[in-house]
Amino acid sequence: MNLIPPDAFAGRQRVDAAVDLDDVSRCPCGARCESCGVERPDLAVHTAHTQLGVMCLTMCPRCAAADCAPPVSLGTAVNLVGQHASHLGIDVDQMAAAMDAETDRRSRPASRP
Ligand SMILES: [Zn+2]
Ligand SMILES: [Zn+2]
Repeated sequence: MNLIPPDAFAGRQRVDAAVDLDDVSRCPCGARCESCGVERPDLAVHTAHTQLGVMCLTMCPRCAAADCAPPVSLGTAVNLVGQHASHLGIDVDQMAAAMDAETDRRSRPASRP
């Protein structure tokens, strides 16, 4: 049974190849850590993968190392995901497609013995 047209995969791979969801080169760095609120000179932008999408956050090294999710509301998270999509030059639908491709890639080795 081969019901999936090859084009469906070709389209996904194209999006996946074109978009690095963890690219923060165009993301603005904030003045304080968005997780703990500390102000310090060595803050950096990091990405956080959520079920809504990938968002970018300014975090201090401590919070970034702890990999803790910042305490943002659902509405804020949606906004942050949308903002990061615009930093990448894509829309949220393209981001979702890229995340699907990423999930496929990660789950593939585990599903194959
Ligand atoms: Zn912090
Ligand atoms: Zn961003």
